[in-house]
Amino acid sequence: MAAGATASVALVFTLAQAQWSIILGIALGGAYAVTLRPARGAYVDNIMAAGALGVPMWGLISVIAFPLISGQMPEWGAEQMRAHFPALVGWILYGASLGMVTQGLNDIAGHVLGPETKLGSNEPRETKRIVILGGGFAGMRTAACLEEQLREDRSVTITLVSETNALLFTPMLAEVAGGSLEPSHISTPLRSTLHRTEFIRGRVLEIDLERRLVITGDASSDSGSSSRRASPYDHLVLALGSVSNYLGMANIEKQAFNFKSLLDAIRIRNHIIEMFERADGEPNPKERRSLLTFVVAGGGFAGVELAGAINDFAHGILADYPALQPGELSTVLVHSRDRILPELSESLACYAQQRMESRGVTFRLKTRLTDARPGVVVLGDGVINAETLVWTAGTAPSPIVKSLSVEKDKRGAVIVDSVMAVPGYAGVWALGDCAAVNDAKTGKPCPPTAQLALREAEALAKNIRAQLAGQPLQPFHFDSLGQLCVVGYQTACAELVVPFGGGRSMRFSGLLAWLIWRGVYLAKLPGLERKIRVLMDWTIELFFPRDIVQTIDLP
Ligand SMILES: Cc1cc2nc3c(=O)[nH]c(=O)nc-3n(C[C@H](O)[C@H](O)[C@H](O)COP(=O)(O)OP(=O)(O)OC[C@H]3O[C@@H](n4cnc5c(N)ncnc54)[C@H](O)[C@@H]3O)c2cc1C
Repeated sequence: MAAGATASVALVFTLAQAQWSIILGIALGGAYAVTLRPARGAYVDNIMAAGALGVPMWGLISVIAFPLISGQMPEWGAEQMRAHFPALVGWILYGASLGMVTQGLNDIAGHVLGPETKLGSNEPRETKRIVILGGGFAGMRTAACLEEQLREDRSVTITLVSETNALLFTPMLAEVAGGSLEPSHISTPLRSTLHRTEFIRGRVLEIDLERRLVITGDASSDSGSSSRRASPYDHLVLALGSVSNYLGMANIEKQAFNFKSLLDAIRIRNHIIEMFERADGEPNPKERRSLLTFVVAGGGFAGVELAGAINDFAHGILADYPALQPGELSTVLVHSRDRILPELSESLACYAQQRMESRGVTFRLKTRLTDARPGVVVLGDGVINAETLVWTAGTAPSPIVKSLSVEKDKRGAVIVDSVMAVPGYAGVWALGDCAAVNDAKTGKPCPPTAQLALREAEALAKNIRAQLAGQPLQPFHFDSLGQLCVVGYQTACAELVVPFGGGRSMRFSGLLAWLIWRGVYLAKLPGLERKIRVLMDWTIELFFPRDIVQTIDLP
């Protein structure tokens, strides 16, 4: 850690004022080395991840903090950005060097010291089976951390069951729907990411908590009768995520697109292109308008990001349809509360709304969807003629959780105790979107986000290892790092918690927030290959128009 910090100082030194650079270099290098636990030999991945983190660091420190410290207001016009560019290169180099040093130190420490704690002595131990259900953020991270935690203990087997064979990086899903990213580039294959874990691609059909068995079937069939398989477990991790919840409105469920999976995003993109193709040959202006109206229900992160992406995509492909006019396009966001993005501060949410409105998105706030028919979306106070409706307004834990005889909250999520164990069932744990996890320090419920799911997974893996070793378990606590939301191309808003600032946060908007968003999420996207593919997509997007090739047939 010390060497990581020291090595970083020299590079940060060149970026701005010397005394602040040294302090920041030590703090950042130390924090990075402490928080990051890279797998052995993952030099390229760690260098890329740390290098990408240089982008938000540049924004926060060189563009904002240093001018503020010198008594000037930060500015990010084109002129200032040009002046800051050398520092950006420096920060990326700094991050990459730090990544290399921390990886080297990690490998040396692993070699010299061995694993953190060897479980028990050399005596052969009874085999324990850990079965993880769900290959999303929570499930995959739990498996990866358990592999790391138990790397010397071969008496434990780890099995991961998921109906998809890849982790979907949902923060970038709106970019797939908006045609900025290729679908497979935001999905990380589970088989190649996890090395020791047995992967079963299948659908969980039944969980027998009494007999300690999980029944899985073919991922493509509901009954799964042809290939039912029983997996016994000693420890069971429920990480099954959530599904769209239409609150009992069957017509809306029938008419609307979900926005949860990769296929949903691909369908939405193809459907929008289909609407343009049909509108191009439609002589009736009213019909044309209905074809070119895109309604998104829900003003949370997913809905706002999707509405922004659809709006950009629709305007971006308009050039390929000269018969259609910009005035005929409409993206409408319907939200039941009086402001969008309740997770962000009011001022940032207002900023997001204003920016989106200036780009052509219409907001229907304090309005609920009540029904939907083909070509018509029915609201509490009127109707919208639209052929496209996407639902992001409600989610509920995975239906399989419903069938379990465990205690659940009003959302239907599994209630767990402070160490994420399911009360009454020894060895059963739950986390992520399908669980009701409370922060042990604040007592507040943890929001269903990827950020929390990942932290819960890290804590849970440690707790399972501790339980196997007969050691005390740690209650879960995590201080949020902040929130980021893209509202359109080159525009985002960010609320980032100041480290050591007693919970204070800094707010950013516009291009800088967008660069921070891209830097942070690129760093978080698992796998070097995926990072490069996404970077290439983003670069191509800078120079070429959106692609209007339809990739799937729609009914
Ligand atoms: C469009 C969108 C954008 C988002 N943006 C952000 C963001 O910017 N930042 C953020 O922090 N969070 C974001 N989120 C929320 C985030 O994706 C979730 O909180 C996170 O995915 C929860 O992780 P999880 O592992 O609990 O569930 P998931 O990631 O949903 O994983 C659940 C897994 O279980 C599998 N599964 C479900 N049922 C079965 C079954 N019966 N059998 C087998 N496998 C099953 C699924 O295939 C999946 O692999 C976004 C969500 C969406 C939908």
